[in-house]
Amino acid sequence: MQATMVQNNSPAVITEQSHVLIVDDQLSLLHSMQALLRINGYQVTLARSGGEAITKLQDADYQLVLLDLQMPGIDGLEVLEYIQQAELDLEVVVVSGETTFSSVKEAIHLGASDFVRKPYNPEELLTTVSQGLERYRQKRLLVSSEHTLTESERIHRFIVNNSPDFIYMLNTQGVFTYVNDMVEKLLGYKRDELLGKHFSSIIHAHNADEIHKFFSEQRAGERATQSAEVRLLVNQANDRVQSLDNYELVVELNAVGMYEEDQTGEKIFTGTLGSARDVTGRKRTQDRINHQAYHDLLTRLPNRALFNDRMSQAFAHARRTGENFALMFMDLDRFKLINDTLGHVMGDRVLQFVSERILDCLRAEDTLCRFGGDEFSLLLPNISTKESVASVAEKILKAVRQPFHVNNHELYLSMSLGVAMFPIDGETRETLLQSADIAMYQVKDNGKDGYCFYSDTMNCSSNFISVERDMYYALEKQQFQVFFQPKVNPENHMIVGMEALLRWQHPQRGLLYPDEFLAAAEESKLIVSIGEWALRSICQEIVRWQQQGLPKIKVSVNISPAQLEQDDFVERFIHTVHEFKLAADIFEIEISEQSLLRGPQNLAKKIHSLRDYGVSIAIDDFGRGASSLGYLQYIPVNTLKIDRSFVRDIDENTQQARIVDGIAMMAKGLNLNLVAEGVENLLQLDYVRNLGCHEVQGYLYGAAVSAQAAMAMMESRPSNGPHFILPH
Ligand code: C2E
Ligand code: CA
Ligand code: CA
Repeated sequence: MQATMVQNNSPAVITEQSHVLIVDDQLSLLHSMQALLRINGYQVTLARSGGEAITKLQDADYQLVLLDLQMPGIDGLEVLEYIQQAELDLEVVVVSGETTFSSVKEAIHLGASDFVRKPYNPEELLTTVSQGLERYRQKRLLVSSEHTLTESERIHRFIVNNSPDFIYMLNTQGVFTYVNDMVEKLLGYKRDELLGKHFSSIIHAHNADEIHKFFSEQRAGERATQSAEVRLLVNQANDRVQSLDNYELVVELNAVGMYEEDQTGEKIFTGTLGSARDVTGRKRTQDRINHQAYHDLLTRLPNRALFNDRMSQAFAHARRTGENFALMFMDLDRFKLINDTLGHVMGDRVLQFVSERILDCLRAEDTLCRFGGDEFSLLLPNISTKESVASVAEKILKAVRQPFHVNNHELYLSMSLGVAMFPIDGETRETLLQSADIAMYQVKDNGKDGYCFYSDTMNCSSNFISVERDMYYALEKQQFQVFFQPKVNPENHMIVGMEALLRWQHPQRGLLYPDEFLAAAEESKLIVSIGEWALRSICQEIVRWQQQGLPKIKVSVNISPAQLEQDDFVERFIHTVHEFKLAADIFEIEISEQSLLRGPQNLAKKIHSLRDYGVSIAIDDFGRGASSLGYLQYIPVNTLKIDRSFVRDIDENTQQARIVDGIAMMAKGLNLNLVAEGVENLLQLDYVRNLGCHEVQGYLYGAAVSAQAAMAMMESRPSNGPHFILPH
């Protein structure tokens, strides 16, 4: 009967539309989050600064605030302080980049209840928002029932026993005289088991002194109420208890002294009344944030930040004691093949298995870290001889060579290991890492699957040298070619553009694709000359198309970081386009997201000049790897090209498909042109078309073909422009 009473008093808020305030100084992020939440049915208001947030909070009621911490002027923490002071009834979720990790912790202390990392994952953001709103509703329900049920004692008891907190009373000796029903759920004791017992029987030894002081202060009446975070012991005999690690529970303890007046009017201490709130969940969130800041999510190994920290310790220790240590760089052989043939999900599983196998070969004081991709690094402190490092390396190689069984596949893997010793191979972190890296490449060069110690005679670019020499020759002998891949409007299958892709017709090795020579071309900066040559031959082709009277279409040109680094890149680009008397708006340049983030300082300026000239700007391989979308603010982007990996996974993995959804929503929110590449089948085509992709590229319509074949393709479909007819 009491339970239905609470339900009848449910506040109207449950059926109301939820109103979310998003506070962020990054406009692009603000708009993308707005789009995401609106599409999911939330009412959304935006604030671009802390000051604006406070004004908006004064003007309207919100149920949830998504709050950026780092903002100029009034920052997120100050907004939180305001919310706390004004006693606003709402949930706060912090949206923050990695750099503000310590402030996230502070934010949680100031009442923020959850945390989303930037750049956000749309699915995670939606889950966090809906959980936050659910928490808000639960709290409101409780508050409103507490308000309306205060009249009678019976109802009072109802609340006390249904409070999520453990409520207790102690007599003057510190013995329990009352506990509510919650004690069984939280600590696993029956009420009778605790009544008559001294409070210290449930306090963790670590907190014993602190808590004695806490309660005696109450008795002395120094403070009316206070709270402390303590660990309580749970009843181990009761296995239904949920807690941090099954024998303790972290609570926030509150207490207030109870007094009665005697005949003379003097106050006499009669006992203590208090409550304890389970904060294990909050603790876990804090631990999780702590952990995430220093660990790789996939393998749970330390990340680069923690690794650097351990390296500094190793340096300090080695300098103090004169001991040596070793640094090992490891890279799986042919891992790309696994990713490409079996998919990312399997690739990820393999990385997890590999890291477990390596860990089994190590001592407790060794640090294994994943540097990203299939690269690992290993720090072996207190190593006296090369022989002992060699035996670790051999152990690892042997462990990795054992077949892996993943989803009914039997996989055979191997690794290449490079070792550098402190101090002979380097005395700083950079030089030591570089030496280990060079040694690793030496192994790759000598047929992989092995290890090697660094030596001075190694040349870091040795593995590239022969390719580099060949490429000089290839430029001279005109062995490079530009191929073209059609870009198609998915609604009417008309060709709307072409992407120019580089090929190398090698006299001995046959037709080579960029993945076989581009890295070496980048490394040696030869890509600058190759790129210039490519642009000229692209222009020549376009002139030929125009002479044939073919419709004007956009041509995409890939630009690599080494090209963008050239001071006169923009001038040369414009000069070439002029020379062929072509309009700038025919061209779109594609810059990969990675190279944007690694790019030089003045990159934005160069891109602005090209855009001003009339060239459009596309971000290639968008969404790959963790990146910050901050650049969208200062780089004038026209187009996002969704990375092939997302499109590939559309038919087999629903979670990936959701990432594509998020990207599409964001592109819409930012008013950008959206291109999907790597579309190989009708299912993928259908999906990306429904997402609103304006252009599609992929084997479904056609792979890149020679310039000659590209022209033939456009000529053979003359009626209202070149188009494809797809099989159904
Ligand atoms: P990208 O810009 O991401 O180019 C798309 C790649 O995907 C091309 O590989 C293309 O042939 C391939 N592709 C197209 N459709 C499909 C499909 O349906 N399925 C699959 N699995 N793949 C598809 P490609 O030609 O080997 O180029 C590789 C990368 O080399 C390019 O990636 C680009 O970053 C770079 N690149 C190519 N040409 C140039 C160039 O002239 N200059 C520079 N700097 N980089 C270039
Ligand atoms: Ca491209
Ligand atoms: Ca791409």
